[in-house]
Amino acid sequence: MMSFEELGLNEQLLASIKELGFETPTAIQEKAIPVLLSGTKDFIGLAQTGTGKTAAFGLPLLQLVSTTDKHPQALIVCPTRELCIQIVNDIESFKKQMRGISVVAVYGGASIGMQIKDIKRGVQLVAATPGRLIDLIERKAINLEQIKYVVLDEADEMLNMGFQDDIEFILQNTPKRDSTWLFSATMPPEIRKVSRRYMKEPFELTVGKANTGNKNIDHQYYVTPAQRRYETLKRLIDFNPGIYGLIFTRTKADAQEIAEKLTREGYDIDALHGDLTQQQRDKVMGQFRDKSLQLLIATDVAARGIDVQGITHVINYELPDDTEVYTHRSGRTGRAGNTGISMSIIHAREMYRLKQIEKMVQQPFHRFEIPSGKDVCRKQFFFFMDKLLQADISHGDYETYIPMLTEKFANISKEEVLKRVAALEFDRFLKYYENAEDLNVRERDNVRDRKTSGRNDRREDTRDKGRSRQQEYNANGDYTKLFVNLGSKDGFYKASFLQFILDMSDLRKDVLGKIDMREMNSWVEVDSKAAKQMVRAIDGKNYKGRRIRMNDANSR
Ligand code: AMP
Repeated sequence: MMSFEELGLNEQLLASIKELGFETPTAIQEKAIPVLLSGTKDFIGLAQTGTGKTAAFGLPLLQLVSTTDKHPQALIVCPTRELCIQIVNDIESFKKQMRGISVVAVYGGASIGMQIKDIKRGVQLVAATPGRLIDLIERKAINLEQIKYVVLDEADEMLNMGFQDDIEFILQNTPKRDSTWLFSATMPPEIRKVSRRYMKEPFELTVGKANTGNKNIDHQYYVTPAQRRYETLKRLIDFNPGIYGLIFTRTKADAQEIAEKLTREGYDIDALHGDLTQQQRDKVMGQFRDKSLQLLIATDVAARGIDVQGITHVINYELPDDTEVYTHRSGRTGRAGNTGISMSIIHAREMYRLKQIEKMVQQPFHRFEIPSGKDVCRKQFFFFMDKLLQADISHGDYETYIPMLTEKFANISKEEVLKRVAALEFDRFLKYYENAEDLNVRERDNVRDRKTSGRNDRREDTRDKGRSRQQEYNANGDYTKLFVNLGSKDGFYKASFLQFILDMSDLRKDVLGKIDMREMNSWVEVDSKAAKQMVRAIDGKNYKGRRIRMNDANSR
C-alpha cells in the first residue's frame, strides 16, 4: 500500500490530508492521483460513492490549477445540490494550507445573484449542478473560455436524471478543455457514448468491479408475506437499537405514510420526497446529518446525492425495479472503509428479482430470519444495559445523592433494581411483543401461499381499506392509452418514467398497463378509471423547463 507522500502531492496538500486524519490513500486515490497529476488528459474512474473519489480528483485539481490566474479553470459537474455542497466542503478542507485559490458551488434552489457575485470574485474551481450551470452560461455570468479541466462526477446518476443533453452542452461550451475526468459507479452504454464523443483515449480505471457492490456491505434479506412488510420493517429497526439508517421506498406515498405511522408509534424518523420545498428538505437533511434523526425514509429520486457518513443500515422496504438502483441504495452504507448492512424485505415471489440483483452485485446475499418478539426484547434489553454500564459518571455531582439513595435502596437487591429499570424502559416493547407472531415465510407457507394466493389477496384487501381502490383498478383491466411528450431523450428509463408519472399523479403502480417508450414520446396504458386523474396532474406541468403534454392517445 502506498502513502500519500508517494503520490506526488505538494506539501500544503499533504499537510491538509494529515490534518483531516487520512492515514493512507484509498484504492481510487492511490491509482488515480499519480495518473491525473502526470498530465493524463482524459480519464474514466469507475468507483462507487464513498470510495474517496472526491479527493481522487480534488487534490490533483488543486495542485494543477494556477493560483495567479483568477478565472474558472476547473469545472466539476455533479447531479445534485447536496453532492455539490459536499464536494466544495471537501475541497475547502483540502486547500486549507493553500493561498490564492477559491472554489464556489453553484446549484439550483439558491440565490443565483449570490452565486454570480461569488464567481465574479475570481474563482479557479467551480462545482455545479447541470441546470444551474446552463442558466449561468445563458446569462453570460460565467466564463467557460478558460476551463481546462472538466470533472463529471457520478456521471451515471446525471444521465439517469436526464442530464445527458445538458452535459453535452457543457462539454461543447468549454472550448479550451483539454482534460475530461469522468467518475461513475456504473458503466451504462450512454456513458460509453459520451466518452467516445468527448474524450480521447481515456485512461480507464476500475476500483472493485464495475457495476458491482462494495465489499464492505453485508447484503441481507428477509422473506415475509407482502402484507407484513411494515411489521417486518418495525421489527428490523427494533432489533437494531443503535441503527442510523436510510430506508428506501418506491413511491413517495409509501415514504410519507410509513414515516407518519412510525412517528406516531414513537420512532425517530422523517421522510424525504419530491413534495418538500428546498427549505424543508434542507431541514430534514440537516437533522439526519447531525444524527438528531435516527432514521430517514426516502424515494430513490429524493435520495439522490445524499452523502451522509456513518449510515449503519440501508433498508429496502421493497426491492427497486431497476437492478442498478440497488447498488446506489446500498452504496449509502459501508463508506470510507466502514462496514454496513443492506437489508431487503421481500416476499416469496420476489426471490427471482433478488437473484438477479445478487448476480449483478456479485456478492452473496444472506437470508436471515426475521427476529421473533423475544429476540427483539432481549436485544433491546442488553443494548440498554450496555448503555447503563458505559454511562459516563465522572462529571456529575452524583456523590451528593448517593448516601440518600443508598438508604432508599437498602432493602432492594441488585436484581430487583435491574428488573425495575427494565420495566421502566421496556414496558412498551414487552407489551408490543408479548404475543408477537412469526413474520417469516417458511418453505411450508410458500407452497400454501402459491396455492391460495388469490384468496390471500382478497383477504388483505378487505383488511386494508387504502388498498381496495387499487384492487378495483386491477380487476377490470380496462386501459386508456395516454400519449406523453417525454421519452428516453429526456433521460428516462421505463422504470424511472413510470415512477415519475405515479409520483406526479399520486397513483399506485397497479393502475399501469404496458408502456411504449421512444426517444421523444411515450405511450402508456393507464386504467381508464385513473387516466383522468393522471392527465389532470401531469398535462401542462413543466419538466426541466419544458411543458409536458399528456392526453388520450386515441383522441389526438
Ligand atoms: P467520497 O467518496 O469522496 O464521498 O468520500 C467518502 C468519505 O471518505 C468522505 O467522508 C471522505 O472524507 C473520506 N475519505 C476520503 N479519503 C479518505 C482516506 N484516504 N482515508 C480516510 N477517509 C477518507
